[in-house]
Formats: sequence, C-alpha cells, structure tokens
Amino acid sequence: MFESNEMAREKLLLVPGPSPVLPRILEALARPTVSHVGPEMVRELGGACENLKKIVFSEKGEPFIIAGAGTLSMEMALLNVVGPDDRVLVLSQGYFGKRMAEICRAFGLRHDVLESEWGKAVLPEELAARLSERPYQVVACTHVDTSTGACGPVEAYARAVKKAGALFVVDGVCATGGIAERMDDWTIDIVLTAAQKCLGTPPGLSVLVLSERAVEKRRSLASVAAYYSDLLRWLPVMHDPAKYFSTPCVNEVRAFYEATRVIMEEGAEARFARHDLFARAMRAGLAALGFGFFTDQRFLASTLSVVAYPEGVDDKAFRSTLYENGVVVAGGLAQTAGRVFRMGHMGNLTAEQVLLALDAVETSLKTLGRAVALGAGARAARGVLGS
Ligand code: PMP
Repeated sequence: MFESNEMAREKLLLVPGPSPVLPRILEALARPTVSHVGPEMVRELGGACENLKKIVFSEKGEPFIIAGAGTLSMEMALLNVVGPDDRVLVLSQGYFGKRMAEICRAFGLRHDVLESEWGKAVLPEELAARLSERPYQVVACTHVDTSTGACGPVEAYARAVKKAGALFVVDGVCATGGIAERMDDWTIDIVLTAAQKCLGTPPGLSVLVLSERAVEKRRSLASVAAYYSDLLRWLPVMHDPAKYFSTPCVNEVRAFYEATRVIMEEGAEARFARHDLFARAMRAGLAALGFGFFTDQRFLASTLSVVAYPEGVDDKAFRSTLYENGVVVAGGLAQTAGRVFRMGHMGNLTAEQVLLALDAVETSLKTLGRAVALGAGARAARGVLGS
C-alpha cells in the first residue's frame, strides 16, 4: 500500500495513455483474487462484456476481454479475419498505422498501405479510389494515431468500406470510450482497443468487439496462425465465464468491470461531449501560453494534443520541469521527437485537473525564464469550460 506522503507525491498522469485511474477502479483492482471460473467472474466479466457492447453501440457483437495490451488486440483482430487468399488495406496516419502493417508483415498477411502525411489522415475519397482499383477483403485503420494526434474520419471510411463489401477493422486504442464508434450504425466489423486509455483502467487488457460478420469470417477460416489469440477459443468463455480456456487476469477484469460501470453512469454520449469540451479547453489554455499544435486543424482528436514548442523552449528541460511541477507528459515519437510534447486528456479526467495541468505548464515556462501572463492558460480554459 502507498504511504500517505507517497500518495501525495503522485503526479498527474497526462501521457496519452495510460490515463489516471480513479480510486474506485484501483480499489476494485485490490479486491480479493477470486476463482477465474467462479460466480464473481461470471458476474463481473459478463457485466463488463455487456457494458462494452454499449460503449461501442453494438447490439449483437461479440466482446472479448483478454489479458494483453493494444498491440495484442491489433494482432488478434488481423489474425482472426485475414485468410490466406485475402488482401488487407492498411490506412496509416502515423506510428500505429505502421505497426498494423508490421503485424501483417510478421504473419505474412498480404497487404498494402495507404498512407497520409503525419498530422493528417487518409481522406475518404482516397480510400474509395483505392477500393475501386483493386479488391480488398479487409480494411484496417487507426481511429486516433497517438503519435500525431490525428483522428481519422471513421464514419466516412466505413461507408466506403461497406460499399466495397470488405470487413472494416478500427484500432480504437486511443479513442474507444472517448470518441464515438457506432459499430452497428456505421458498419464496423471490429473495434479493437486496450484498457488503459479512454476506458480508464490500468494497462493489462486486450479488448475487442467483433460483429457477427467478423465472427462468421473467423469460422470460415480452416485455421489461423494463433492459439491463445484464436478468438474462437475464447468465445465460449465470453459467453459463459464459468468455462475455462486460459486463466483470465481476475483482478484486472474486476477493475475493468468497475471502469465500464463508471462509463455507464456518466453515459457514453456525455463522455464523448466531455472529451470534446476538455480538448478545446486544454488547447485554448496551451495556445494562450504560446504553444502551437502539430496536428492539422481538420483532424484534431479530442483525446490528446500534440503540442508544438514556441521558439527557444527545450523539450527535455520543459518536460522535466513540468514533471517536477507535478504533471507527466510524453515526448514526440519518431520524426516529431524534440519538437513536440504529447498530452493526453482522456478517460476519467476532471475539469479541475485540466486547470491544474495548465497552471503547472505555466509555472514550468516561468521556471525556464519565459515571460507568461499570470493565469493566462487557466483563464482561457475557463472561458471554454464556462466555469
Ligand atoms: N494503437 C494505438 C492507436 C495506440 O495509441 C497504441 C498505444 N499507444 C497501440 C495501438 C498499442 O497499444 P499497447 O501499447 O497497449 O500495446
């Protein structure tokens, strides 16, 4: 257990995942370890599955909650629906789109990549044009690429993919539970995600929802190059957690169930609106403090900001000073390293935490010798929050 002074020293975690975890979710994690096939798991894994379907607006989809992380979710999604005769089109707008293609390569899945410039996303008309050039059985996209802060136009992609008759896989690791993903209405076949971002649970779970069509596709494949990752082996467990395939991470599932209850209490639509509001507030505050944004305006995601430094602010010095002032953010990935910092504003964040983060940014700039108008960041954010 934490000593109370240790708890007081805990930083506000604003990396773009994991997001801060509410005490009631941490408490669920610390509840007793129960039998993986006992009544508690039947209730809590079962309840988490039901709630998960509501979060992605899927009536008849099949949810899967399995020990792992986002990358395993990506791998599971592809391995379970891409057959030897299929071809995948990967829409890539950054680091995690590249990863999707790397997974295809690692398993010898035939694929092409349609790539956008960093900070933007592939346009729906570019996708439609590609789909009319050659047949694809599966299209995979990243909803929000955490490297660039760009949000792909998933609903418009879905329309193009449906027209082409392909299966549509969405990497929602940095979006699910924070930005709408309406599986049934939009026709998405797989939403894959992880516990630690907009869902607000500690890292440790691969989370997927498959449409009926995606499950049928898996059934149509004689075999897949997977054992633990073969979703058909997990399906009976997700229908009835009293059945055994491989021991679920009981405590993490208990925490995840609690996290889905938090989301149900807030309401999915209210949660999406809150993410949008906090993103606008945070960006107004950062802009007032002299920062710019890496992501193209048209594609700004509400779950994180990729923040460009003003002339003369050193990345390492800024982030370590901000850390000393109580807030943890991440550096830029690949080509953006040193030029930006990445700040998550997702999950169970509060308006107070948004304001606190802006105050810490302001204090850090001052420590580094920049002239900033006192309280300018929080004031701009308050203007958006209406508080
Ligand atoms: N996809 C996206 C969009 C992500 O942001 C991440 C993690 N940052 C992943 C996939 C991989 O998830 P994990 O680190 O949990 O394996």
